[in-house]
Amino acid sequence: MSVMRVAQVAEPRGSFEVVERELPEPGPGHVRIAVEASGVCHTDSVFVQTPSPAVRFPLVTGHEVAGRIDSVGEGVVGWAVGTRVEVGWFGGQCGHCRPCRQGDFISCENLKVPGLAYDGGYATHMVAPVEALAQIPEGLSAVDAAPLGCAGVTSFMGLRTSVARAGDLVAVLGIGGLGHLGVQYAARMGFETVAIARGRDKEALARQLGADHYIDSSASDPARMLKELGGAKVVLGTAASADAMSATIDGLAPRGQLVTIGVTDQSLKVAPVQLIGTSRVVSGHPSGTAREVEETMAFSARSGVRPMVETMPLEEVNDAYARMLSGSARFRMVLTMDG
Ligand SMILES: [Zn+2]
Ligand SMILES: [Zn+2]
Repeated sequence: MSVMRVAQVAEPRGSFEVVERELPEPGPGHVRIAVEASGVCHTDSVFVQTPSPAVRFPLVTGHEVAGRIDSVGEGVVGWAVGTRVEVGWFGGQCGHCRPCRQGDFISCENLKVPGLAYDGGYATHMVAPVEALAQIPEGLSAVDAAPLGCAGVTSFMGLRTSVARAGDLVAVLGIGGLGHLGVQYAARMGFETVAIARGRDKEALARQLGADHYIDSSASDPARMLKELGGAKVVLGTAASADAMSATIDGLAPRGQLVTIGVTDQSLKVAPVQLIGTSRVVSGHPSGTAREVEETMAFSARSGVRPMVETMPLEEVNDAYARMLSGSARFRMVLTMDG
């Protein structure tokens, strides 16, 4: 029997155990991937920690998966054994809900998130539908590609679909898992880039990542500082703090846009009077489709954007997960499958 290794959680709030399973064969429209690297995302913990009928145990999480196709199911067109692929948060669409029928696949009401809808990438192998596949370009390692399927595509598309145009002043709030990528994308897209974070600790790093300006939000009012720079066309809110995001709104230029991508259920504080006279917009942005993950990776490979990662072998999954949860990882944890 051919076997694979998976890191599974047996019950809600349980810890991971690495077990052997029979190697699955890909069904029609699916491929099997020999996983090389798998990012550990904060959202994985939501699936582990929150008992919900939608989450089936034993659970194999992981939706930032980079590897190589090693088996192709029936009816698959355009994907071959050996191709390097990424599977991110977008793990396939249902094809029959209203957004799907409108071609808006990222808004699918039954979006198949890997590690929730089907076994994810904390494993040596995984089976995925072809709709979820994004080709990894030359020059991008599996470890660097992995986080781009969730953190990367969210930051990239959040900026790319915003109202900002080349040369505009764009601020990235928060220098963490999302923000350290957001600063790089903003700078490489040709925006005058502002990094906003608490304290001075991250200033040198932010400038190294491409920030033209740095605002310490614990020492000064970020809205006033943004105004002094001329007003931000876009603020990309990556810090999962509604208060920190709210504090930037008055720093937006007329027709400026706050794009929230840092997940929190706290309420934003914004008064209509802050929006009306200036036509400002407060919005959100989800992840991105497989094709958009591919575009994110291509842009990253071409422009030199790389995630900052810490790697650990699959066997040390509990340590990697704990490090991600504590927020001490700089900035994305990635599991590697060799050995
Ligand atoms: Zn994620
Ligand atoms: Zn759908």
